[in-house]
Amino acid sequence: LPGLMQDAPLMISSLLRYAATYHGGREVVTRTVEGPIHRYTYRDAYRRAAKAANALLAEGIKPGDRIATLAWNTYRHFELYYGVSGIGAVLHTVNPRLFDEQIKYIINHAADRIMFVDLTFVELAEKLQSSFNSVERYVILTDAANMPDTRLRDAVSYEEFIEGSNDYIEWPEFDETIASSLCYTSGTTGDPKGVLYSHRSTVIHALAAAQRGALDLGAEDVILPIAPMYHANAWAMPYIAPMVGAKLVLPGPKMDPASIIELINQEQTTFSCAVPTVWTMVLDHLERHGMRIDSMKRTTIGGSAVPQSMIDRFREKYGVTVAQLWGMTETSPMGTVSSLTPEVSALPIEVQRAQLSKQGRAQYGIEIKIIDPNGAMAPRDGETSGDLWVKSPFAAKCYYKCEDETPLDEQGWFPTGDVATWDRYGFMKITDRTKDVIKSGGEWISSIELENAATGHEAVAQAAVIGVYHPKWEERPLMLVVPSSSADLDTGALLEFLAGKFAKWQLPDDIIIVDELPLTATGKIKKSAIRETYRNYKFP
Ligand code: ADP
Repeated sequence: LPGLMQDAPLMISSLLRYAATYHGGREVVTRTVEGPIHRYTYRDAYRRAAKAANALLAEGIKPGDRIATLAWNTYRHFELYYGVSGIGAVLHTVNPRLFDEQIKYIINHAADRIMFVDLTFVELAEKLQSSFNSVERYVILTDAANMPDTRLRDAVSYEEFIEGSNDYIEWPEFDETIASSLCYTSGTTGDPKGVLYSHRSTVIHALAAAQRGALDLGAEDVILPIAPMYHANAWAMPYIAPMVGAKLVLPGPKMDPASIIELINQEQTTFSCAVPTVWTMVLDHLERHGMRIDSMKRTTIGGSAVPQSMIDRFREKYGVTVAQLWGMTETSPMGTVSSLTPEVSALPIEVQRAQLSKQGRAQYGIEIKIIDPNGAMAPRDGETSGDLWVKSPFAAKCYYKCEDETPLDEQGWFPTGDVATWDRYGFMKITDRTKDVIKSGGEWISSIELENAATGHEAVAQAAVIGVYHPKWEERPLMLVVPSSSADLDTGALLEFLAGKFAKWQLPDDIIIVDELPLTATGKIKKSAIRETYRNYKFP
């Protein structure tokens, strides 16, 4: 029996229309790439997003076309979040930290038609443009006065690009399952994979993530997304902030602790989100200079495990509550959030703290299951670990242009590649990872690609790369190599050999020569044993 309620589709454009209508005077503040602070309101942003949309339509952009951005968190990027998706085109946010080969690959794979580029990345785009097969023109995210002298094809400044266009558009309504944005994740082996979000997944995720038990956001909040808009949509803050009417503060290119602290205090930020590496630097800076961040009430931290000491420092010294978030690009990104329930609040304070140091509970909108090595559902005893699976209207079912290779199981659950326990209170704790990757400062390094590259060197017989704890970057790569009998192995030369193939930050911090590597029964390198041996390894 069909229900008799409206089929009003969940459209991304409705989020900004809501903000413009009901929180029209609330500010969006940006530290611009050009330098000065820019401020305007949701009302202004809405008009300019319409201009961007009309300019794209005038350019011949059609529903489903992919539009790339190579950009920081700024108001112009924010306008594109709405201007592009709002007309049914797909916003492809490119991560500039990927190495050149990966950037070339994803632009060609996505077949982006226009590329919007921040001043910071003009040189990068110039270097790679001859390999981009589909990009018709480039729009530089600046105005005519700051326009660089550039070789980029048919380049125009953003302000000139939108200038003549109407600031009103009747946003189209279409099937809510239509694609809205595209974000490639570069974790495991092989080429990066594209997670293709939809209007429906984006709006439901924003609703779910704003809940009290999740990130607990409302109109009185001032949100500073430090997580980049090119990595899982800045954890959805560009959607959630207008949806709840919160003031939005965008840090632009300045990610150093002094600039972040200045922006927090100047704009009276109440809430922020970032990976642990950023907060380590911010906390150190605060302590070194005896500074305060008194407006801050809460922050969500995720992307890598959050050390207990970080949660304690935030609470004890600055009165800031940390809500640890576990998630993936594939989960939009919210999976679980660590927040108190009445049941846990009634427990002794030490128990509460131990609970809050876990990755947290699934919020309404996403479900998790943990399957032990025997294939059974792991008991909620906080001890039995198993593979972590998720199911949600905002989790991926497959990757862009790989539609016939769905990783889902028969019941539609997505395998996360993480290993976890869960407890009687529903708190999940990540204990390990089955995917062979290293996460350094919030970005991926593929162990296997490093290993394959190393074994391509004549003096290397075998190589294994593991992630080892690092106080600043959470994890850094350590490479173990078994020399071949044919040539002398010099670790300096090997590092130089690898340097040509990877971004600098992806290279191992140290290379150790060993006689042999531990193997599994089937002859594969036993990473778990190597991780155990080097658990307390300290980089020189
Ligand atoms: P993001 O960095 O945006 O969360 P990615 O897709 O790059 O998304 O990375 C997701 C992976 O990062 C997870 O599968 C997990 O391995 C790791 N991860 C994310 N959050 C946490 C966390 N709070 N604790 C431990 N690992 C985490």
